[in-house]
Amino acid sequence: MCNFTAAKLYILCMDGLEPFYGWTVAMKWCLCAWKKPMKQRKIIHVDMDAFYVSVEELDDPSLKGKPVVVGHDGPRGVVSTANYVARKYGIHSALPIAMAHRLCPKLVVVEPHFNRYKEVSRQVHEIFHEYTDLIEPLSLDEAYLDVTDNKRGMDMAVDIAREIKQKIRQVTGLTASAGVSYCKFLAKVASDFRKPDGLCTVHPERALDFIDNLKVEQLWGVGEKTAQHMHKMGVFTGKQLRGLTLQQLTTQFGKMGRVFYNFARGIDNRPVVTEWVRKSVGCERTYLKDLTSQEDMLAELDILADELEGRLARNSFKGRTLVLKVKFSDFQQTTHSITENIVIEHKDKIMTLAKALLDEVDFQQKSVRLLGITVTNPVEEEMQRGPVQLYIEWPPFPQPDEDTTQVT
Ligand SMILES: [Mg+2]
Repeated sequence: MCNFTAAKLYILCMDGLEPFYGWTVAMKWCLCAWKKPMKQRKIIHVDMDAFYVSVEELDDPSLKGKPVVVGHDGPRGVVSTANYVARKYGIHSALPIAMAHRLCPKLVVVEPHFNRYKEVSRQVHEIFHEYTDLIEPLSLDEAYLDVTDNKRGMDMAVDIAREIKQKIRQVTGLTASAGVSYCKFLAKVASDFRKPDGLCTVHPERALDFIDNLKVEQLWGVGEKTAQHMHKMGVFTGKQLRGLTLQQLTTQFGKMGRVFYNFARGIDNRPVVTEWVRKSVGCERTYLKDLTSQEDMLAELDILADELEGRLARNSFKGRTLVLKVKFSDFQQTTHSITENIVIEHKDKIMTLAKALLDEVDFQQKSVRLLGITVTNPVEEEMQRGPVQLYIEWPPFPQPDEDTTQVT
């Protein structure tokens, strides 16, 4: 009805033109207005550059120019963040510190100062709030912002991203990279594109070209295992991924197949969610030397149970299911879980359950490279805080039989 009124108005504006031409153009306009989504979203993904280590350099300028990582320096420590000098030596997050020392003998290892990182993160979030309250933090140093209707009434999301970057630098002395697009996954990939201190925009009409040249590893939800699977199928790029049918993708990747199908077409309608409920609390550890005996595994589980008890208390998390994750030396992994009638919160209980779960594992003579324990299945009071699902004017997720090749 509204479009029909718009068409009539349009015809009024066309007064004086040949009537048939006026109708034709008006009908086309109506069709476009009907097909077009009500509102194009504007999403920014902000990612602080080498955050922890940059904060350390800020607090101790003598570190600048040296290869530095943040992490616990010890036989079992792993790199939490590496600065760009250290990255030139091939050092990256999650690398064992011992290996990092081998790659760069002059490496400086700094113990983490999480309270300080939180403080800086708060300053950064204050800047975000000057523009929007629709903020979805992914970690201390990363967040999505929905600036479609921003507090400043600014039209261009890229201008907002530029201002945010400048303010972060002024207030904290640190650099951030930002990606701007109409959906979360493209904004995130874009923020990584020109790091450090980068700013990259993916316009809707350029989205497919951009996706064509992405490696499948860059897509949200594609981990190491999935990437290998895709490579075996001869799929290495976004363009090749778009060549697969929905059926092929769901057969190979289950529910995620549909997600990949849509991503390859530039479709990602996930909203920016401002608050999320913690669904689990866990900890895991990768071992430099694979574990072979059950005695060693129990000793390591005892350390993990200790840590988990502390984490559960710090997060006031109450759950009834314990999950044991075991990754073998050949990278195969298995999980076993057990659900109790009561909340699992104390170390003794965690250990009793973990031991029972370990007995269920079929090791097939394989050694173990990673152990993890997680408490999940939160009790009612935890769930009642519920996530805030934001309302966004956007058409429903497209059905596979629709023509989805056009980015809207
Ligand atoms: Mg970062």
